[in-house]
Amino acid sequence: MAFSQLIGQERAKRMLSRLIASHRVGGTYLFFGPEGVGKRTTALLFAQALNCAGPDAAEGEPCGACPSCRKILHGNHPDIRYLFPLSRAGKGALDDLLHDARWGEHGPRFDRAASISIEGVRDLRHEIAHRPFVGRMRAVIVCRAERMTTEAANAFLKMLEEPPPATIYVLTTARPQALLATVRSRCQPIPFARLASESIEHALIDRFGIDQVVASASAGMANGSLGRALDLATGSLEEERQQALDLMQTAGTGLEEVPELVQKLARQSDRGEIQRMLELLLTIWRDVMVLKVRARAHLVNEDLGNELTAEGRDLSLDEIVQTIRAIDETLRAVEGNVNLGLALAYLVSRLSRGMGGAEVWARSPGPSAIM
Ligand SMILES: [Zn+2]
Repeated sequence: MAFSQLIGQERAKRMLSRLIASHRVGGTYLFFGPEGVGKRTTALLFAQALNCAGPDAAEGEPCGACPSCRKILHGNHPDIRYLFPLSRAGKGALDDLLHDARWGEHGPRFDRAASISIEGVRDLRHEIAHRPFVGRMRAVIVCRAERMTTEAANAFLKMLEEPPPATIYVLTTARPQALLATVRSRCQPIPFARLASESIEHALIDRFGIDQVVASASAGMANGSLGRALDLATGSLEEERQQALDLMQTAGTGLEEVPELVQKLARQSDRGEIQRMLELLLTIWRDVMVLKVRARAHLVNEDLGNELTAEGRDLSLDEIVQTIRAIDETLRAVEGNVNLGLALAYLVSRLSRGMGGAEVWARSPGPSAIM
């Protein structure tokens, strides 16, 4: 993999290549932009370019084949350090990260409670006190930098203030505003953009061997994120999909406990998880719609074909379209900054039908309350 093979991100590539070619690389870089658009992959390529022994390294293009490039790719280069949120399965998380870096785009799944701890920052500080061991330039790549605890961020800030020799830092985040302002202000920002859905579709087909129809549907719903599209296309979001199905079922029951269940879901999930769940709910209802108009069709949720046919049986096409609109509206609201409990309550009120549903949800907020 080389910079030229990275999908999109022309601006970031240009900025970094220029820095390398002019020998002005130093300090701290903040790679910011949506999740799943190539920030971590670019950080890895950047680290490779800075240490590559290949012919085009001076222009900022790593060869990908020299011992240094290979070590960085496989995660065993002694001068490239990672700092990332550590979950209970800490070791597995590192393996995932490196595996994902190898493939490029498919982001590792971090535990929702995972954070970057002060211990992690302290360990790192000891490790990098000296000159790089073998490389020209040491790179510290901090993934999901916004997950640093306040203590960790303050310790990290101290490290930035006394930079060790020949060391750069790359912080990646989808939420730069969640970083300490004092950390942010020391960084050189490198912006990453959403990808065109055609580029995502081609990548899913060409690189990951995904069926064209599923690739197209997933790319269309991924909001410019290849990582998200890949999750949608490969069904690797089983937990979230189950949540989406549970929510549908809950909404259908019209029970008194529904509001409580919704609040519980909102409390236990973070914004990203709710977003993914809603995206999956969209794929489910897209399939309901497809099945309503055609008996056989390519489905995103192929395994749910029978259930989804049944789901659509008593609904008119118009009702299905209205439901899809309601999910889409809710998704947009969640991508903004609305209260998750309110957003889900609104959605369930729209999904609920049948006995008791209207009564239970008489007090539920309307769309204006969540937008
Ligand atoms: Zn190389």
